[in-house]
Amino acid sequence: MSLRTKFMLALLLTGLVAVGVVGGLAYVGMTGKVDSIRREMAAEHFHKAVTDYLRKYGIWRAGQDAEPFDRFMSARRRDERRPPPPPGPGGEPPFHFILADQDFRVLLGAGVYRHDEVLPEAARKEARPVTVDGRIVAYVSPEGVLTPSREELQYLAAMRDALLAGVSGAVAVALLLGVLLSRGLSRALSQLTGAVRAMHGGSLLQRVPVVGKDEVAVLAGAFNEMSEKLARTHEELNASHQTILTQSEQMRELSVRDALTKLHNRRHFDEQASTLFSHAVRHQRPLSVVIGDIDFFKRINDQFSHATGDMVLRQVGEILRGHMRLSDLVARYGGEEFVIAFPETELPQAAALCDKLRALIEGFPWHQVHPDLKVTMSMGVYADIAAGTAEAMLQKADALLYRAKQTGRNRVCFA
Ligand code: GH3
Ligand code: MG
Ligand code: MG
Repeated sequence: MSLRTKFMLALLLTGLVAVGVVGGLAYVGMTGKVDSIRREMAAEHFHKAVTDYLRKYGIWRAGQDAEPFDRFMSARRRDERRPPPPPGPGGEPPFHFILADQDFRVLLGAGVYRHDEVLPEAARKEARPVTVDGRIVAYVSPEGVLTPSREELQYLAAMRDALLAGVSGAVAVALLLGVLLSRGLSRALSQLTGAVRAMHGGSLLQRVPVVGKDEVAVLAGAFNEMSEKLARTHEELNASHQTILTQSEQMRELSVRDALTKLHNRRHFDEQASTLFSHAVRHQRPLSVVIGDIDFFKRINDQFSHATGDMVLRQVGEILRGHMRLSDLVARYGGEEFVIAFPETELPQAAALCDKLRALIEGFPWHQVHPDLKVTMSMGVYADIAAGTAEAMLQKADALLYRAKQTGRNRVCFA
């Protein structure tokens, strides 16, 4: 059952109970009061009539012979210009009274008591004495059944109608109030539910309308604050996560790059070369490794300046990088030494490529830097994976480089 239905049912029930209790109590209380007033008035009237009757005739029996009590009552009613009482159930007059003599012997019977019967103790309690000249001559006891008059019946019907109108009014007001109040409440709650679902779906920044100052409005306000805070925190977290990622990428990059030439460094080369070597062995594919060393570099530094030496290193690095394939691996191995790994490359091609690189370095317009500047490189190329490891291949290449240095520099030795 929805909250709205529960709310309306509660209002309806409260309204009905209130109308029922107030109306019912009023109805019962008033009918009781009317009944007792009528009884009292009827009893008073009857008592007075009996007193007058007995005062007139002395004793009951004599009176009955002269003028029966019924006739006496009718004449009296005529004198008082009162309408005859409406007949009760079964045509009986509305009230019955028991008239008994001074010894509680029934003179006029009513209900369960017969003529001449002695009233039991219980019935005597309500009996009211009729005194003539200070002497009790009879007793009048009510044995009445209320038969309301037409006016009273109309009055009671009006009360019932009012009660019914009250119930209908309460139902209408409860339904109207229920619809009005619960509409706002259920709208606010469904907006909150929607916003929570959206947050769950990933859109952390949600805003629900804050209407009024009730508990739901407080909840909506707190929700908005929480959502804003969460979204802000999430954004900050994302930003710092991004910074950390960028920084760690920069750190990683720095850790594998040489600062001067921006080529990879020795550590990176060693790691990658052993991966390339394993791949070549596993798939029986060719792999060539090269080590190059700038000739008389110490002299360049000494003759032209350390800065010129640095510039030469950067330029040589540029030439090497510019002539590599994506899959090739080139690094500054330290000082003025460079290493290269050519995967999927047989020795003759690698040697040819190295000779081309050597020629490019030699042919670079170094004179633009300084008219006397000349730069050459010696290289050793090794391509037999039977060496066992990438490191062993590099040692072999280094030996070949040594040979290149020994045999005149600015050349490529290979095996
Ligand atoms: P060889 O032809 O036999 O290789 O002679 P070389 O002078 O090139 O060899 P050597 O190893 O004697 O000299 C290398 C020099 O490289 C020594 C060092 O000062 C210089 N060097 C090493 N790292 C750097 C650097 O980062 N910048 C500069 N400018 N010089 C460097
Ligand atoms: Mg060297
Ligand atoms: Mg050198």
